[in-house]
Amino acid sequence: MEPTAGAAAAPVSSDFIRDIVADDLRTGKHAGGVHTRFPPEPNGYLHIGHAKSICLNFGVAAEFGGRCNLRYDDTNPAREDVEYVESIQEDVRWLGFDWADRTFFASDYFETMYEYAQTLIREGHAYVDSLTADEIRNYRGTLTEPGRNSPYRDRPSDESLDLFQRMRAGEFADGTHVLRASIDMTSPNMNMRDPTLYRIRHASHHRTGDAWSIYPTYDYAHPISDALEGITHSLCTLEFEDHRPLYDWVIEHTRPPSRPQQIEFARLNLNYTVMSKRKLLALVEQKLVNGWDDPRMPTIAGIRRRGFTPEAVRDFCSRIGVAKKENVVDFALLEHTVREDLNRRAQRALAVLRPLKVVIDNYPADRDEMVDAVNNPEDASAGTRRVPFAREIYIDRDDFMEVPPKKFFRLSPGVEVRLRYAYIVKCERVVKNEAGEPVELHCTYDPESLSGSTAARRVKGTLHWVSARHAVDAEVRLYDRLFKSADPEDDGRDALTDLNPQSLERLTGCKVEPSLAEASVGERLQFERLGYFCVDPDSRPDAPVFNRTVTLKDSWAKISARTS
Ligand code: ATP
Ligand code: MG
Repeated sequence: MEPTAGAAAAPVSSDFIRDIVADDLRTGKHAGGVHTRFPPEPNGYLHIGHAKSICLNFGVAAEFGGRCNLRYDDTNPAREDVEYVESIQEDVRWLGFDWADRTFFASDYFETMYEYAQTLIREGHAYVDSLTADEIRNYRGTLTEPGRNSPYRDRPSDESLDLFQRMRAGEFADGTHVLRASIDMTSPNMNMRDPTLYRIRHASHHRTGDAWSIYPTYDYAHPISDALEGITHSLCTLEFEDHRPLYDWVIEHTRPPSRPQQIEFARLNLNYTVMSKRKLLALVEQKLVNGWDDPRMPTIAGIRRRGFTPEAVRDFCSRIGVAKKENVVDFALLEHTVREDLNRRAQRALAVLRPLKVVIDNYPADRDEMVDAVNNPEDASAGTRRVPFAREIYIDRDDFMEVPPKKFFRLSPGVEVRLRYAYIVKCERVVKNEAGEPVELHCTYDPESLSGSTAARRVKGTLHWVSARHAVDAEVRLYDRLFKSADPEDDGRDALTDLNPQSLERLTGCKVEPSLAEASVGERLQFERLGYFCVDPDSRPDAPVFNRTVTLKDSWAKISARTS
């Protein structure tokens, strides 16, 4: 591709949308520019599906030297809120995208939309209908039967204009009149059967307050907003494909200053979760999760708190690609991408989730030794750190079995294991409680076996540990799938009845190495042998709280072939 004025490097990998945009640039359509927008409705928090749309809209603009606007599609005052407006900006920024000062609201254009509507009425392309909502539904027909014209369809345009102005002035109750486009009640496309352009809603809007008592529909507001912003490629999800003729009709008949082009792509569907904002809101309102940023939620705020990185989310979006065909992506692919990113970047640490005390009987009680630990084997520049070792340590309960099965290369009576970065120890004796559970192990260590020393031997198992005296108490939250089924809404089931009761496990009394006392909120770590973790905002000084971001290995699924 010949670089056009201001064009950035050619896209890394193409798809049908990028092909269209490249073609349009070549042929000089849209005056040779590329301008996209991300158009969320501020009626909930953004989710991972939105991330696909964000990466696409901002990505296409950046790759082709264009711009992308953030535009709130705020035409439905009843469900919208400033809390959502703010969270959306935070989330898009976190994903790594910048829209400079181009924050727009559909409500910014209400006055222009209203003027355009008056023109439509004057030119005979719109009329005020005074049927009730039920009657309008009956007149609309079905997929197999044509609709019928409303008796108000032919009312004089002066009468419609007068009614429309009085609708705006607030003279009528909700539902008494609507403004409809006059298109074709027999169209095989239901969207073209005189669609509603304006409804009466006596509702306060989060930006325009009580200035309006009529609000435009999405189908009317969206193309006009696009056109007023000079959007060239209006990218949206497939369910709007049947709305495209209406999109084009609105542009053609309102004659705004530019002609955007709507292009549809398949939305992202992920298994084991839901992405309808209505469902996510229900989870929050019914307190089935702890807010929009609960780390189990598929929201951007949730996965951020969980410890997912923006780099991994962007990488995920580029891996899944953009196509015209709906499919369901395995949640494990997203986790796999996160794991790959964290493996490269996360500093390693030692932590014990379910502590079992180990006393090393032949190690001096008053000795404080520092051992060298590698910060990141994937990144030599991350260096090493000093971790305290002492006579009493904790290991994880799972790493000891009194009667081990075959191939249990961890600790059991008479067996030797290496303590990571430290010595080889051998279990000599088990102290049990009345229930017969091990509560303390007595071991001996081999003083010649310090990790890295020339005399060091090799043994089968290596365990993580922390020094009992130096460790910091921590809370660790383990997460599992929020829903039990791959498709929580299968067979029309209400997803809220499919919640996984084990989706959150809170472990208190965990022990982490002392360097983590000061870990800052959002910091991501690998707890060796346990997974990737991230410091939760609930952390207090000397009382850190960690979220498990992902396990070290994929315990769930066959990751789809394309990632291997
Ligand atoms: P909901 O139906 O749950 O309210 P929505 O699609 O109406 O979601 P919007 O705020 O209107 O949510 O979405 C903003 C943009 O993000 C739209 O362009 C929409 O098509 C896109 N989008 C929403 N969900 C997905 C998804 N799962 N995959 C890709 N794009 C999506
Ligand atoms: Mg929407």
